[in-house]
Amino acid sequence: MSNTFDDNRSVWWDAAAARGPYAPAPALAKDLDCDVAIVGGGFTGTSTAYHLARRFPEKRIVLCEARLLANGASGRNGGLVLNWVNGVDTSNLELARRIFDATRSGIDALEARIREHSLDVAFRRKGCLEILTDPKRAEAASREVERMSKAGIPLRFVEGAELARLARFEGAAGAILDPTAGQIDGVSLVRAMRPLIEKLGVHVYEGTPVLGVDEGETIALKTPNATIRAKAIVLATNAYTPRLGYFGSGIVPLHSHLVSTEPLSPDEWEELGWGHELTGFSDDLDRIAYGGMTVRGELVFGGGSNAAYGYGFGNGTVYRGDPQKPFEAIERTLHRYLPKAAKVRIAHRWTGPVALTMSRVCTMGVRGKHRNVYFALGYSGHGITLANMAGEVLTDIYSGDDARWRDLPFYQQKLLFVPPEPFRWVGYHAYTAMTGRSPRRALR
Ligand SMILES: Cc1cc2nc3c(=O)[nH]c(=O)nc-3n(C[C@H](O)[C@H](O)[C@H](O)COP(=O)(O)OP(=O)(O)OC[C@H]3O[C@@H](n4cnc5c(N)ncnc54)[C@H](O)[C@@H]3O)c2cc1C
Repeated sequence: MSNTFDDNRSVWWDAAAARGPYAPAPALAKDLDCDVAIVGGGFTGTSTAYHLARRFPEKRIVLCEARLLANGASGRNGGLVLNWVNGVDTSNLELARRIFDATRSGIDALEARIREHSLDVAFRRKGCLEILTDPKRAEAASREVERMSKAGIPLRFVEGAELARLARFEGAAGAILDPTAGQIDGVSLVRAMRPLIEKLGVHVYEGTPVLGVDEGETIALKTPNATIRAKAIVLATNAYTPRLGYFGSGIVPLHSHLVSTEPLSPDEWEELGWGHELTGFSDDLDRIAYGGMTVRGELVFGGGSNAAYGYGFGNGTVYRGDPQKPFEAIERTLHRYLPKAAKVRIAHRWTGPVALTMSRVCTMGVRGKHRNVYFALGYSGHGITLANMAGEVLTDIYSGDDARWRDLPFYQQKLLFVPPEPFRWVGYHAYTAMTGRSPRRALR
């Protein structure tokens, strides 16, 4: 088991290693022509491959991943499978209902996909709490939940003994329970998707970074040993996308850090103050803290301070700072909410790149002179549900039958301009140091 930062291996990667050796798909060795080339092998890439191949079995679809599938955020996240689209103001009840319906259907579809294909994926869906750390905010949240339940949004406000039965987070004045949310092991999902999409006819290449994109009616993708000529491409590269020359002024790759414990027994969970009826939690603060219980019983925990989210100069997607500070800050937050966790050994510490947009709203759509560059990105740390929905959205856009997505906020969302370096770096660090907050437009 890995517990040093040098490996930067998430709890999910170690669980995959424990399941046995992995034989990667071969790297692309020869030039090829195809209908659609998907760049990136995370949730966005694999879900797009799945939906495209099912809808268009006659098309030649390839997916190339620079390293191994799930190398990016999909294999390094906190696993919380949540509703909502980050950054959208839900005071308009009709819009809130539409968004909740869409993301809940996305989670249902993911669960159905796992069941339909008997995928070996660790997914636990017992509901997540958003805890309110201030009595006034708790009161407002309780009213908000009442308003939303009238519109059919199945949230519940919990407090007192009911909240204590779910979890005893220090300082929680109440919480919003979303019984439809859960937690998933992203590496197990992406790995399980590979044989499925290959069976549907998708050609998967690992160890195949796309080095350049030459747009046209036919797009040329340069890789180290061969060129792919594709009638359309899908940018499924989230935080890495600016390196391909796209969305450089729209997304900021932040380094989000996480820790996890060894598997805990039901008694140890009970002692921590976390009951078995709860999958995950997040708090109501700007630098959100969040955590979840894995299927194997590990506690995964992240966020909670500026230190837990790092921004490196020049959109770096590899964390180059001193990792100790972020992890110490995360562990302090963990001990604040669950003081008994101070006795539990941290077994994994890791980090991964999150693509933050200024408004926090993600975007999915198509661009380019020939309308053949598809994209879905900028999930702002909330992408497990949305990146897994992206495949269906992009397939609908590709097929020209996308009416059902058009009134959702991520559809062809224009990203707000983020200044170039060095202003970006200076602005980010000055803002976070002065306010302790994250720079964004739509604060909740
Ligand atoms: C620490 C952390 C915690 C998170 N916690 C949560 C959470 O609890 N809940 C939640 O909803 N979201 C969470 N997220 C966000 C979520 O994981 C992401 O939004 C989601 O995984 C994005 O998936 P993706 O497929 O678009 O991108 P990625 O998973 O990043 O996949 C992109 C892939 O593209 C590959 N690639 C990059 N460049 C190239 C190239 N040139 N050629 C070929 N391949 C390339 C990369 O290697 C990578 O595998 C978290 C993210 C992090 C980092």
